[in-house]
Formats: sequence, C-alpha cells, structure tokens
Amino acid sequence: MNKETLEKINKFTRRPFTEDEIYTFSVILCDNDIDRDYERFSGNALETLAKSFVGKTGIFDHNPTTSNQNARIFDTEIVTDGSRKTKTGESYKYLKANAYMVRTADNETLISEIDGGIKKEVSISCSAASRKCSICGNDRSAGGCAHIKGRMYSNKMCHTVLDNITDAYEWSFVAVPAQVNAGVTKRSANYGNISAHSETDITAADNELRRDICRLAFFTGGKTAVDNAMISAECMNTSQLINMKKSFEKSALSNGIEVQLMPDKDNDFSADEFSMK
Ligand SMILES: [Zn+2]
Repeated sequence: MNKETLEKINKFTRRPFTEDEIYTFSVILCDNDIDRDYERFSGNALETLAKSFVGKTGIFDHNPTTSNQNARIFDTEIVTDGSRKTKTGESYKYLKANAYMVRTADNETLISEIDGGIKKEVSISCSAASRKCSICGNDRSAGGCAHIKGRMYSNKMCHTVLDNITDAYEWSFVAVPAQVNAGVTKRSANYGNISAHSETDITAADNELRRDICRLAFFTGGKTAVDNAMISAECMNTSQLINMKKSFEKSALSNGIEVQLMPDKDNDFSADEFSMK
C-alpha cells in the first residue's frame, strides 16, 4: 500500500491507521452494459456514481454474524476495457471501487472469504431521475412509450438508459455459496434504480418491484409462495421491497437457479417469462 492510498483512507477514519491495520480490496460496482433488467447507466451516470460512492459504507448482508462488519469505499475509478464491447457496441466501461476494512479479530474470516473470491457479488442501489427509452428517448417515468424493454426494434434492443443520478444509497456484498459459484455467472445487479421525483414514480417503481418479487416467489415456491409474498409485499415501502426482492434472488440462487426477469407484457405472469440457466 502506498502512502497516498493510506492518506486517502485516513481521511475517513477517526484516528490515523497504519498499513498493517487496514485491509483493502476492490469491487466492480456497475458498468455501462445493458443489465438483466434491460437497463444501463449512461456514461454521465457512471461519472456521477463514481463521485457519489466515495465514502459510502458497504454491508455484508443476510448474515447476522457479520452484521457489525462493514467496508468503506475510499476511491473509485472508471475503467475502460478496450477488448470488450457492450451490447450496444460501445467500449465496455465499469466503475471500480477501492474499499477498506479495519482488520479485527472478528473479520478475519470475512477477509479470507473476500480474498478467496467467495464474496464477489456486489449490488448497489441508487436513484436515477432520468430513465429514457433507448429507441425513442421518451422518459419512462413521465408516461413512457409503447416500446418494450428487451424487444428488438430495427436490430436494436430496447432498453432503459439511466441518467441524472440523484443519490447513491448503498452497496452490499451478497455471499455466493461456493458450489453455486461454479456454474452461475451472475452480474452485479443494480437494485432499485428508483426515480424519487414524484409519488407516482415511486408507486410505479414499487409495483415493478412487486411484480419482480411475484416472479421470483413463483420460482422458489410456486403459487403458494406468490400468494404469501403478495400479502407481505402489500404494505411494504420501497426499501423493504428491495430487500425482499434481494432475499428471493438469493434463495433462488442458493437453489442453483438464476432467474432472468423479463419485461412484463401484461399484468399477469406465466412460467414462459422465465428463463433458467
Ligand atoms: Zn420508446
């Protein structure tokens, strides 16, 4: 660790730490490619996220024994991978974050898990005020258009371009069990890109989350699970819904299932809309 790195870290700490007391690692927070929700961040959005995530604390979720353990991002950079193109044919760019943890007796195991690549999934949540259709440029939050995410229009896949990032809320590690790790390539998912501009937007985003939960529940426990999930989800707020979606995704994953959420064609859902890998 060089002096400059340590100085950056010590800006966030209550007292100056020495190199030996600190563990650093890097994670990929997001990229500019179309994700499985048929959304992508604009270049401008990546720049904003790079600034917003500095100083943000990440959590290791869903594991009570690690609830007191967290890491903080002290530096970010946008990396261009010239050897790879996005689905839209642009140079692939990703937002890399450098994070640190203060070494304690409690987080020794966690650190070795990070080193060993067991904890490698990172999810982020942020707020995008602009969500434009890639085909016509209409804002989805403002009524939207007739184009459907995931469908092809003149050889171009319709997706939503997220821009005007107003807030970055959190980043979290999702533990991926080693046995599942092998066969599953699951990208860092961008949970909860919620436009917080108006009540209507939040309601629309919440309903989208409820639909996702519905689909995931169907996969993990069939019709009964859907019914139960819908009863619970009824009165939940956005962050509770995001957590519920995350936990369903996690349980699907732990069963070796990767669920690809397809754009909804109508309000009903059927097994045809899922694809399993
Ligand atoms: Zn459109």
